[in-house]
Amino acid sequence: MIVMKFGGTSVGSAERMQEVVQLVKQTATKSCPVVVLSAMSSVTNALIAGAKAAAAGNFNDALRQVDLIRAKHVEAINAISGGADLLSEIEERLAELVVTYKGIAAVGELSKRSLDAVSGMGELLSSAIVARIANAQGLRSQWLDARKFMITDDSFGRANPVWGELVPATREALMPLLEQGTVVFTQGFIGSTRKGVSTTLGRGGSDYSASIMGVAIDADEIQIWTDVDGMMTADPRVVKDARVISEVSFQEASELAYFGAKVLHPLTIKPAVEKKIPVRILNTFRPTEPGTLIKDTVVSDDIIRAVSSKKGITAIFISTPKMLMSYGFLAKVFAIFDRYQTSIDTIATSEISVALTIDQTESLNEIVRDLSEYGEVRIVHDVAIVSVVGRQYREKSGIAGRVFASLKDVNIVMISGGASDINLSFVVEGANADDAVRMLHGEFLSQGGQSNPLSFVIPSGSEESAARS
Ligand code: ADP
Ligand code: ASP
Ligand code: MG
Repeated sequence: MIVMKFGGTSVGSAERMQEVVQLVKQTATKSCPVVVLSAMSSVTNALIAGAKAAAAGNFNDALRQVDLIRAKHVEAINAISGGADLLSEIEERLAELVVTYKGIAAVGELSKRSLDAVSGMGELLSSAIVARIANAQGLRSQWLDARKFMITDDSFGRANPVWGELVPATREALMPLLEQGTVVFTQGFIGSTRKGVSTTLGRGGSDYSASIMGVAIDADEIQIWTDVDGMMTADPRVVKDARVISEVSFQEASELAYFGAKVLHPLTIKPAVEKKIPVRILNTFRPTEPGTLIKDTVVSDDIIRAVSSKKGITAIFISTPKMLMSYGFLAKVFAIFDRYQTSIDTIATSEISVALTIDQTESLNEIVRDLSEYGEVRIVHDVAIVSVVGRQYREKSGIAGRVFASLKDVNIVMISGGASDINLSFVVEGANADDAVRMLHGEFLSQGGQSNPLSFVIPSGSEESAARS
């Protein structure tokens, strides 16, 4: 069994949707896939923009977003044959959207719960059209509303699977269809609570949906079909000569996804690891390319495998003489982040200060207020985490030195490394992130980069002391 997930650009027009159905049909000759679909590109953003406009009292702007969304779907439906009744289905969903926008406008506030109800609609719209194309082409298939079986908790905006209920519900919904050779078309990104309230798994969460469903049905492979040839040595939008990596380990893929490689939602790998289900990244635009296989173990001599950056990060520096020689200080700091359910991405400590980064800033004011009880707090907005994922940090000396030596004129805000064998992360000002990635790629990964002799040698173990600066 195979799960095939198609992202926003892969279903961005009627033509693209038809391509998707062709790819599904090819797979269906060998095994019966579950097809997980994203919203058409830019639709989730438009849905969210409409909700924000409604909350801000600009209802006409919200309606303008509805018009944009309508136009995009109607254009796709008009380009396929036999879609007349789909138009009324789309209108029904859009009418529901307008009602929700009206509710948001009436209270003048956008709750996370309402935002989830709105932002998940794009997947329902796109999947209805793709399923119709499949049907018209004679593929034995069935459209399913993922909210019937993707049971999550009520952490709106980044809901978590409730495995104990989700797995039996998913198996019950999907297995009888798959066993009789019926291809299932469903949505990524969305789920619902036990009580039937709509949730989402977080932006980019369709990849995560695919791996959750893959685990629930014991799939042989989870395929992430997107708009690039695979997981690459850097974001190809930033580095022109980025290359596809043919095989990546689960651990490397997780680190890269967590630290900014948008090609994969950070949580995608987690469920797959437990059942050792391989994840393959493939390009819908160039389906014959081999892509990237993400699996348990990978053999490679590369010193550095890839470079990524995660922008829009906030760095927090806490300085306090109280920390000197005291125990329990970090526990108090962590308790504050725990209280506001804010996760820490990177951390570095010294004798009298702690530096850390977060990417969710909803509770920043409260966090700063509480931290201020323990010391002086300084905030730097708009920084970026740059991560260098490699293999031989432990075995080979000099790599960290070479990393920092290659960063000419880039001011380093903080260094956090050593916790993972395979990742060295540091923080730069947001405006420098792309340059830093390009310099590192040039040093290690551009043609010939790997074979360069180590240009800067420092004794092994110095990475650790650098991390504690
Ligand atoms: P989808 O809509 O298919 O989910 P996304 O836009 O979420 O696609 O992710 C694909 C994009 O991820 C690519 O277009 C690319 O710009 C970006 N990206 C960032 N880092 C990497 C990387 N290391 N390898 C490949 N793509 C990357
Ligand atoms: N459509 C959702 C988003 O744009 C989920 C996804 O594409 O993975 O975030
Ligand atoms: Mg994505």
